[in-house]
Amino acid sequence: MENLAYKLQDEIFVMVSEVGRETNTKVFVIGGYVRDLILERTSKDVDFVVLGSGIAFARKVAAKMGSGSSAKYFKNFGTAMVRKGEWELEFVGARKESYRRDSRKPIVENGSLDDDQKRRDFTINALSISLQKKDYGNLIDPFNGLEDLKNKVIKTPLDPDITFSDDPLRMMRAIRFSTQLDFTIAKNTYEAIVRNKNRITIVSKERVLDELNLIVMSKKPSTGFKLLEETGLLKIIFPQFVDLKGVEVINKNAHKDNFYHTLQVLDNLAEKSDNLWLRWSALLHDIAKPVTKRYDPQVGWTFHGHEFIGAKMVPRIFKFLKLPMNDRMKYVQKMVMLHLRPIVLSEDHITDSAVRRLLFEAGNDIDDLMQLCEADITSKNDAKVKRYLSNFELVREKLREVEEMDRLRNWQPPVSGEIIMETFDLKPSKVVGDLKTAIREAILDGDIQNNFEEAYKYLIELATKKGMTVKKYIKTPEI
Ligand code: ATP
Repeated sequence: MENLAYKLQDEIFVMVSEVGRETNTKVFVIGGYVRDLILERTSKDVDFVVLGSGIAFARKVAAKMGSGSSAKYFKNFGTAMVRKGEWELEFVGARKESYRRDSRKPIVENGSLDDDQKRRDFTINALSISLQKKDYGNLIDPFNGLEDLKNKVIKTPLDPDITFSDDPLRMMRAIRFSTQLDFTIAKNTYEAIVRNKNRITIVSKERVLDELNLIVMSKKPSTGFKLLEETGLLKIIFPQFVDLKGVEVINKNAHKDNFYHTLQVLDNLAEKSDNLWLRWSALLHDIAKPVTKRYDPQVGWTFHGHEFIGAKMVPRIFKFLKLPMNDRMKYVQKMVMLHLRPIVLSEDHITDSAVRRLLFEAGNDIDDLMQLCEADITSKNDAKVKRYLSNFELVREKLREVEEMDRLRNWQPPVSGEIIMETFDLKPSKVVGDLKTAIREAILDGDIQNNFEEAYKYLIELATKKGMTVKKYIKTPEI
């Protein structure tokens, strides 16, 4: 039998083991921590299962650990969490679960360690380690999880049709673990996902999204999305994304498959950025290509306006997936809206004014936008890729130059609405807004500099031309 005592030398395991001896309670490390210990992925979140009350046991552990530790007890769930330093230790009594058809919430009873291992989702998550003094460190592996870890396989401990039908979220978890760990899903487990896919609808969208986000945040998210698509789950949980799939051919002209293109963009970006929302921007950047697709005999396939329509689709998709309807959504919307602008810039002659406008619109998110655009280059033609990248380098240089000159990144109008009203004795009105817009446009066009003096002078000239009279000159703005 495998013994892992040498990996459990930290004092927290020794203390938990002592509490077990003192209270005559059997206690085991179980689940993800054991899996990660064998895979040498470090973690500080440990699940313990005890043959008895998890809460009573955790009280004793917290008392033993003394100051520097804290504990929380969840009576409704029969679980307890003890924190010490970076460690998060969760205690629960061993349980046996049985399911009804219409819910993923099981009926729970006290059970043996074996019952507790049987209720786990995958063999690699059902491993446990004894903390009893006499066999400290022994691996208890009733479903050959160790072998599956070595062979990099995701497999359910029991009949997969029952496992997935009981709790359909496990189908998402199978694909998530397969993506995160780069494991394959065993054939019969995979086939059971296909058979049970429609059961996913009994799971709350929030839980599905949690798993989806873990896939999005993994090293190579395309693996998970391809599995979700192939099993049929994606069509149910995120149909808008599946619409990107497919290639149409007219007169021997084919467009690229936007599903695989998008996944390539996401993978490219995942190598550069851990920003979940930038990754969502990559996922959604071409989302309106299916609805804007046209065939023009002269130029071939076009997707005119897909960035605008795409930006409009973002709130609906966020709402559908239960993503947050706040500034994160606005950020993704902005990225989708602007994702072609640096490309257009790099293809055209790069004027200061166009660069200024891009800086103004992207604001502080300009670097993220450039990252997205670079990830969007998925051509297989090396010469093309090189040309695009060097064009982008030019755009970046120009952005730096213009930014230094004009400080447009967090642009605030140099002349405020209040100053305009005071100068011409105006009430809040459309005229004030129009004057402000005119000043902004003059700055973006490069006609005047981005400072109070030039902007104020420009304002007076413009307003006088419109027949307005100055009532009071303002020298410098009161900030
Ligand atoms: P990670 O921390 O990467 O999410 P983990 O395996 O620790 O991995 P948790 O969601 O914290 O994941 O779950 C802890 C353990 O609880 C799992 O290893 C597994 O044994 C069990 N488990 C969690 N969710 C389920 C489920 N839906 N069905 C069955 N067992 C589950």
